[in-house]
Amino acid sequence: MTDVRLTDIRKRFGALEIIKGVDLSIDTGEFVVFVGPSGCGKSTLLRMIAGLEDITSGELTIGGKVMNDVDPSKRGIAMVFQSYALYPHMTVRENMGFALRFAGAAREEVDARVNEAARILELGPLMDRKPKALSGGQRQRVAIGRAIVRDPDVFLFDEPLSNLDAELRVHMRVEIAKLHKTLKSTVIYVTHDQVEAMTLADKIVVLRAGVVEQVGAPLDLYDDPANMFVAGFIGSPR
Ligand code: ADP
Ligand code: MG
Repeated sequence: MTDVRLTDIRKRFGALEIIKGVDLSIDTGEFVVFVGPSGCGKSTLLRMIAGLEDITSGELTIGGKVMNDVDPSKRGIAMVFQSYALYPHMTVRENMGFALRFAGAAREEVDARVNEAARILELGPLMDRKPKALSGGQRQRVAIGRAIVRDPDVFLFDEPLSNLDAELRVHMRVEIAKLHKTLKSTVIYVTHDQVEAMTLADKIVVLRAGVVEQVGAPLDLYDDPANMFVAGFIGSPR
């Protein structure tokens, strides 16, 4: 089981409380999308789940295990960022295998996992290129490939498509949906694009200033928003 549970999670930066008591249950295999305006704490929440940011108070469990003080590399998660920082001097193949090799995995295992991720994402023809010879969309696929190679229990995505043009964004959205169907992994996905949220999510979490305003299936939020804020955020055209 790889369910993710947050209980009264809080984050303070200095005197400012940024995350103000978040309770959340994410089931194994669920695709959950965090939405909310810029600065509401989406990335901070994700980074706390990833272990890149300390949790000020509250409890985080993954698969029933308390993770508050567990090293990021031991949480069974992989994170894909908006700015897909690939290593410029390495080929796509090397970029994808690096984390596993670094962790001491055997060459054959690294190769097998990299090849499997390349197959899923149809990266075959690009494997020997360096990042500078890739388009933005291709780079983002490599960044996702790199996460798949690590075979995480939970994928965390922080606005992975916001640097891509509109057409590519639609294409990648479909790719990510397919990926979730194939891998059946738990996904927590941050976006401020409501179309992405509505089409990808099993469950949407609407955040506002560090507080969860509403949690529900996309159509439930659309049909029955808890308040004007949710209505405005989910219902209004971009
Ligand atoms: P979002 O991803 O929803 O745009 P963030 O989680 O990045 O929001 O930021 C939430 C709030 O926390 C913002 O007001 C931001 O300025 C603040 N913040 C984020 N990181 C830090 C930090 N390291 N130190 C101080 N304030 C921070
Ligand atoms: Mg953010």
